Amino acid sequence: MKDKKRDNMIEKIVSCPACGSTDLKREVKTQSALLTLGPRFQFDEVIYECNMCKEKGDFTAETDANFTLAEKSAQESAVRNMIDSLKGHMTLVNFERVFELPIRTSTRWKSGDFSAASMALLRTVTTYPWITEVAEHKFDPMFARQVIIREAAKALGEALSKQGPNIDIVLENDPNAYIAHIQIAKTSSSTDQLINSRSNNELVGT
Ligand SMILES: [Zn+2]
Repeated sequence: MKDKKRDNMIEKIVSCPACGSTDLKREVKTQSALLTLGPRFQFDEVIYECNMCKEKGDFTAETDANFTLAEKSAQESAVRNMIDSLKGHMTLVNFERVFELPIRTSTRWKSGDFSAASMALLRTVTTYPWITEVAEHKFDPMFARQVIIREAAKALGEALSKQGPNIDIVLENDPNAYIAHIQIAKTSSSTDQLINSRSNNELVGT
């Protein structure tokens, strides 16, 4: 494959853009890049050097083509992985329904027929899986805010738990106020004990 590509390049007769000489040295280096929420991928960087005037560069824009090809393959694998992980918490039929996508959209994406917008949606859903719940409620702003507060409490509890005892922040379902309890599970002492302290009674609108 590589040799074939090289043969094609030679057939084209590459010349120096500065002096027009065809006496060139061709160097190929393997480079790698990391796809956002995807795998690391490799591509060939091609650099020519003119033996006459010493001009250097990718005279045939081969590097860009190699990069695009390798990136596309990495994107295909990332799309498949993100769709597979999505299946862990909802059916693909449900995913398509809540985001009002045509049926079998995810099947199309999995087979390689996807756009930059598809990737943007998949990355968003992968990072914030609860966004599907918000979509299910037609992006209702009140519901969205409740979900954000719930998820923030969960994330804060997890972050605090890393410091020591297991901490859960429990929100009470009160339509007029957000009431949070902090539950600290003491695991360091001989008896496991739950301390339930009412810590915060924050009013966020009515
Ligand atoms: Zn030259």
